[in-house]
Order: sequence, then C-alpha cells, then structure tokens
Amino acid sequence: MSLTARITIPATNRELEIPTGIFINNEFVPSADSNEVIDAINPATEEVICSVVAGSEKDIDIAVAAARKAFNTTWGKNVTGFERSRLLNKLADLIERDQQVLAEVETLNNGKPVKIARDFDIGDTIQCLRYYAGWADKILGQTIEVDNKTKLAFTRHEPIGVCGQIIPWNYPINMWAWKVAPALACGCTIVMKPSELTPLTALMLSKLVAEAGFPPGVLNTVNSLGPVGGAALSAHRNVDKVAFTGSTVTGRKIMEAAAKSNLKKVSLELGGKSPHLVFESADLDQAANWVCLGVLYNTGQDCTAGSRLYVQDTIYDKFISLLVTKAKELVIGDGFDEKTGGGPVVSKAQYDRVWGYIESGKSEGAKLALGGQKRPGKGYYVDPTVFTNITSDMKIVKEEIFGPVLSVGRFKTEEEAIALANDTTYGLGAGLHSNDANQCMRVSSALEAGTVWVNQYNLVNNNVPFGGKKQSGIGRELGSYALEEYTSVKAVHWNFGDRLD
Ligand code: NAD
Repeated sequence: MSLTARITIPATNRELEIPTGIFINNEFVPSADSNEVIDAINPATEEVICSVVAGSEKDIDIAVAAARKAFNTTWGKNVTGFERSRLLNKLADLIERDQQVLAEVETLNNGKPVKIARDFDIGDTIQCLRYYAGWADKILGQTIEVDNKTKLAFTRHEPIGVCGQIIPWNYPINMWAWKVAPALACGCTIVMKPSELTPLTALMLSKLVAEAGFPPGVLNTVNSLGPVGGAALSAHRNVDKVAFTGSTVTGRKIMEAAAKSNLKKVSLELGGKSPHLVFESADLDQAANWVCLGVLYNTGQDCTAGSRLYVQDTIYDKFISLLVTKAKELVIGDGFDEKTGGGPVVSKAQYDRVWGYIESGKSEGAKLALGGQKRPGKGYYVDPTVFTNITSDMKIVKEEIFGPVLSVGRFKTEEEAIALANDTTYGLGAGLHSNDANQCMRVSSALEAGTVWVNQYNLVNNNVPFGGKKQSGIGRELGSYALEEYTSVKAVHWNFGDRLD
C-alpha cells in the first residue's frame, strides 16, 4: 500500500498529504510481513478518513532493533544533555509551527473540538517538550560520603534503554508528549505504539521528529492493534521499559507480559472512577462549573473524569438544579464548529459501551436528571447525562464509563463523604469543594488518590506529578518524578586508598 494518503479537512477544505507507514530509522516503510491496514474513522461522520499500515510482531522486532542500535551508538550515553535539550526544543518549535494543522487532523480522527486540540492539547504538548528540554542537562546523581576516609560513592542516573510506549486515543497528541518528552530527555530510545483508533497525528509527529534532527532510530512508531503490537512490545526481551496509558484490564496484561518475559520496568496510568465532593460551605456556582468541567471535558473520555459526585444534603437540591442548568449549556457537536464545547465519543465501540452504561443506570433504578436520550443522525454523540438516586452497587457508580455520564449521591457528614469517595478499587483523581480550610486539609489528606483537586478540578501542570493509587496505576508521569521512570541508578564505589579496609 501507499505510504501516504491525501485527505481533506472538511471545515477548511485544506488538502493534506499525511504519512501512513511504519516509522523506523526516520523513514516511513511498509510492514515487513503483513498487508493488513487499520482504517482511521471520523467519529463525527462515521466515515473512513484513510488507512494506515497495521504493524506486525515482526515490525515491532525491527523497530526495537533500530531503537537498540541508536541507543548504543548515537543516543543513550553517547549524546550530551545539551544536545538532547536542543533537539527537544527544536521539536517543540516545529509542533508550534504546525499547531493548527495538527489540531485539525486530531479533530478529524478523535472528534474533539479543534480549539481544544489546538489551544489545550497541543499547547500543553509544546510546553511539555520545553519543560523536559530544561531537564535534559540537569539529570544529576549524588556524591555520597561513606564510612571511610579513603572511599567514596557516587551515583549516575543512566538512561534505562529502549522504551516501549503504548498510548490511548483520548489525548493522542498529549499522551505522546507525556511519554516521549521525559524519555528523550533522559537519553532513552523509543518504540511508540499509538492507539489503533487515532493513529494519524502520531505519524505526523514522527515526521517532525526526523525534521528536528533526532538521529535515526531514536523514536520509532508502529501502528498496530493492541493485542498484536502492544502485546509484542510488552513481552519483548530487548525492551527495557514499557510505559502505558489506558484501561486497567490492558494494564494488567502488560504487567503480566513484562513479568513473564524479561521483568522490564513498567509504568501504568490506568482508569478511574474519581469522586467529587461538594460541602455546604462551598461557593456553589464555582463548584458546579468545576463539576461540569470534571465530567464533561473531552466528552467524559478522561481518566480523571469526576464521574461520581457526592453533595452534602443541606445544599443538595439547590446544587443539582445549578449543575443541570450548567450542564445543559455545554454544546456537544461538530468539533470544527468553534462554538462546540465537546465532540462525539471516539468510536462505535465506545458509543455502544457508554450507551450500555446509560441503559444499565436506567434499569438499575437510578433517576435521570438530564440526558439519556439518543440523537438521530450520524456521529457518535452522547449528550451530558446526570443520574441521581444512586446506590453504591450500581454499575454506573462502580465502573469507569469514559463518557459524559455523572452519578450523583448525597452525604450528611464529612466522615460519610470520605467513606463514599474512597469506596472504589480506583485511586486516580478526587476533588473537593469547601470554604473551610481545615476541612480541605483533612479531606484532601484522607482521599485515596494520586491527585486531589481542592476548589478546582482536572487541571494538570507539566511540572506537577500525575499518576494513580490502587488499581489506577503504578509510577508517575510529569514533573521531575517522571525522570525516575526513564533512568536507572548506578552506584559507583571508589577506593582511592591502598589498604584493604
Ligand atoms: P485499551 O486500554 O485497550 O487501549 C489503550 C492502548 O492499549 C491502545 O494503544 C491499545 O492498542 C493498547 N492495547 C490493547 N490491548 C493491548 C494488549 N493486550 N497489550 C498491549 N497493549 C494493548 O482501551 P480501549 O479498549 O481503547 O478502551 C476501553 C476502555 O478503557 C475505555 O472505555 C476506558 O474506560 C478505558 N481507557 C482509559 C484510558 C485512560 O486514559 N486511562 C484511555 C483509554 C481507554
């Protein structure tokens, strides 16, 4: 098959030629042994945008070999931090140059509003690359005094090696940056496997990696189905680390494959069922804005989606009516319309899954305060949906939905609120709204989550760590913490005396 496709962006009539091959050694190539393709679908129209090469196990093998060779020759310990920093900054500049066109392709393939893709996802991506460019020449070990005048120890923080990176479809560009930037800053090489649902922008970014001047083999990209390419990467004996974002079910498989192969280092950023608490002292108008943003942003396809809301019973009725009014204001529609606040969900499978949960909420006896009706016509649209009268054993309360669906319960006391919030196998995010500072401190400390937002929700910064507790993950992305995921600490013990003590 051809290694490029001509596509047209509907809203602007922009004609583009985009790469569709496998990216190895800075070139797009066909699969070594497969004629399979993956169709990229526009979730707003349900039409095929183009097809990309579907990589095989053999292609993963070739990509890993290229990454190993680069690690041992041009990258790894053979490149200075200053050079890694320069290249990361160059890449950030190129993404900034192409910000609008990348956003349009992201919208075409993922459905999210173009202004959100451009200003938030890609804006944050550019900052992420620059942030880690700043770290690249500051990855330092320690000098350690030992209990002897003629001996000394020091540590080196060495790049861990070849990294497999498996990313999801909800933030295709952002998740690429969160994985690629710290890995390259530390001197690792990469085999990237984007989601089969949103392969296009990862290929465009790969082209920019070559244009920025990174040596061949430093970053390789293999589009592939998860159980093919993702599984091969996780089980590969020549891969030193695998980093993953996606579902807990898949995360478990990746960890198992790592354990059964070469015990490679694993970091997992998984699902959530994040609680949001609103106490009676809160600024209710502001809290309602944050609750809406928390569960409706990215059409609810967010690992930290605040999908369980618990409201103190003294303000319950007032708060629900405020919330429903605000949720109704969100325009879900075509991502190319600048007025749109949320697009369709990403795929038919995700659409069916979300509607399955909405139907289960209805049949299990929850009460619909908003939404719950399908729209006619094309596109995988799900309007904001709010359920009240919930019980803890309902599927909509226990399981990750990954759509714009909120379950609302009530509490009397702070203790009850904490118990409800922590009654989950997940521990990714949590939010609380209160104007009582002591309460904010007590509750944020009691919540079992990797991130707690106080009087806000869902804001993430490149210099603040992000990750989960419980079954929401292992390891941390972003901030200086992510550097630990991509380095291996070597202790060097040095004897500069002449005696055996
Ligand atoms: P998924 O976890 O299966 O897919 C995420 C990535 O993992 C993709 O790149 C996929 O190709 C890859 N993958 C799939 N099977 C694999 C395997 N056996 N070995 C290695 N890699 C594999 O998620 P999904 O099926 O696209 O979505 C299902 C649900 O997962 C969603 O409804 C949502 O609840 C959750 N999800 C969570 C996140 C998140 O950010 N935490 C992201 C995507 C999906």
